[in-house]
Amino acid sequence: MIGLTSLILIIYYDFLDSCLAHLQGKFYYHMSVFFDKDICQGCGECLSVCPGDLIALDGNSKAYLPEPRRCWSCAACLKKCPFSAPALYLPPALGGRGAFLTAKRLGEKTLWTYNGPEGTRFELTSDSNKTTGY
Ligand code: SF4
Ligand code: SF4
Repeated sequence: MIGLTSLILIIYYDFLDSCLAHLQGKFYYHMSVFFDKDICQGCGECLSVCPGDLIALDGNSKAYLPEPRRCWSCAACLKKCPFSAPALYLPPALGGRGAFLTAKRLGEKTLWTYNGPEGTRFELTSDSNKTTGY
């Protein structure tokens, strides 16, 4: 009897876990990175720096994330892309709904652009040597 109860509990928790993963995929999609397909040149540089091997090129040689919910927003792909094609969604509580960051390499510096609700934009730079490599 205890064995049957344990089995039911395992199946139940497995079901709940699947539901949670599904919901995360649906609702936390925008908490990761997206790639502007009009800008992406398909050079593949971002693929080489993603610590999770999460980026792929589609049939048109445009970067995309097959499993966006696995992205942990390290921003390595943003800093590496020579064309500023990747963008990082910010949590709504931090940047406002739909806010995202883009990055541009400027030698030893990275120029970050905040793109917020209703067209708000501002820029800041960071020293690439003082931030993590990924
Ligand atoms: S933000 Fe980091 S983990 Fe996410 S796709 Fe870019 S390089 Fe990979
Ligand atoms: S580095 Fe930029 S341009 Fe190159 S594949 Fe990645 S997103 Fe596209």
